[in-house]
Amino acid sequence: MTNWHSELHRILVLLGLCLVFGFVIDRVQIVLLLGLSAYTFYNLFQLRRLTQWVAKESHRNDVLPPEDGGIWGAIFDNIYKLQKQERLASDYLKGILNKAQESSAALEIAVVMINKQGTLDWWNRATEELLGIRYPNDRNQAVTNLIRDPRFADYFHREKYDQTLRIEAPTKGGRTLEFQLTSFGEHEKLMLVRDVTQLHRLEAMRRDFVGNVSHELGTPITVIKGYLETIIDHKDSLDPRWHKPLEQMRSQSQRMENIVRDLLVLSSIETRSAPRVQDRISLRDLIQEIENESQEIVNEKDHQLIIELDADIEITGQRSELYSALSNLVINAAKYTPKGGRITLRAALEGGDLKIEIEDNGIGIAAQHIPRLTERFYRVDPSRSAETGGTGLGLAIVKHILARHDAELEIESTIGKGSLFRCWIPKERLSSAR
Ligand code: ADP
Repeated sequence: MTNWHSELHRILVLLGLCLVFGFVIDRVQIVLLLGLSAYTFYNLFQLRRLTQWVAKESHRNDVLPPEDGGIWGAIFDNIYKLQKQERLASDYLKGILNKAQESSAALEIAVVMINKQGTLDWWNRATEELLGIRYPNDRNQAVTNLIRDPRFADYFHREKYDQTLRIEAPTKGGRTLEFQLTSFGEHEKLMLVRDVTQLHRLEAMRRDFVGNVSHELGTPITVIKGYLETIIDHKDSLDPRWHKPLEQMRSQSQRMENIVRDLLVLSSIETRSAPRVQDRISLRDLIQEIENESQEIVNEKDHQLIIELDADIEITGQRSELYSALSNLVINAAKYTPKGGRITLRAALEGGDLKIEIEDNGIGIAAQHIPRLTERFYRVDPSRSAETGGTGLGLAIVKHILARHDAELEIESTIGKGSLFRCWIPKERLSSAR
């Protein structure tokens, strides 16, 4: 502001001098005209200096501004200060960008940015190796043209990306890649791709191992159990001291048989990929069958089994698997509910998806156990589970089967009050009953 005042002061002095001199020589207008012209030329001269300096500065950074007092000097200095601040900010941003680029180049994971048209915007170095994408040729190419596996196209066009996708690498055969998409901004996507070949092999080895071991154990256990039963049938001829150990051996061999059976089921679900031709399962018939088959345990424990069926539809999937998952949940409800309990099997449509609930008023499960229930061999109370003939594999089987049907499992429970197991089967797998 002080510069502005001194400039005003300068104009007033110039005008005053011109007026005085004009009066003295009796040529006020001409002298005023000359004085104002001189002032205009002075300003034009300063403007020229400014444009010259700005032009020089844009080519070569940090050229000092022209020296001047008054308002022009202030303008030069302020522009210089602003440019300096902007240069510092831009250097800082460049530094961050360089660091981000360097660190993303060092990553072994491929990072790809996909714009809302579904074409490639940016990617890091690992992408070129894992997906064979080349710069600049593949820029603005549709990602589904570059990764041609139909499973990728299905995954890419999903609305939610809560799961990852594993497929063979498009470049080198024999390698397995895991894709994870995330939406951000305005329908843009960030794609992360990892090489999981080693992990995939190890998982396959583990699956094969479990499958083989359970298969191999099946026969010896059946033989041991068979002989034990024959011996127990003739226990009267044995010393009574042996009665108790023999009973224990029988119950333990029964447990072993159950474990081996469940392990075989689990490993066959894990190793078999979903068949191309799937059944169309009538929900009504499926629930009817579960009701009939669970009558034995329900009656044995004096439970009341209530069926509430509000949807008459068909599910596309594997009948035997869905039967096994739902009956596992009903049997669990019966097992973990004290005598005379109430078990409800409910099915209804909600938001187009099918919701199947199995609710009991049994012992319930403490909150800290709920997230771990579907892990293999996880049991809340191992001794109680052993008593009920449990293997700790039932819910792991249920979870696997549901995942193979794109379905989800939710568990709600209050200790002492009961539990609710809810399965969500997505609308894509439903059709109206024939
Ligand atoms: P298990 O063969 O031991 O029943 P599951 O995998 O079927 O194994 O279940 C894991 C554990 O979850 C069980 O040991 C039990 O403690 C608990 N659980 C499962 N269902 C229920 C239920 N309806 N009510 C209470 N606890 C349950």
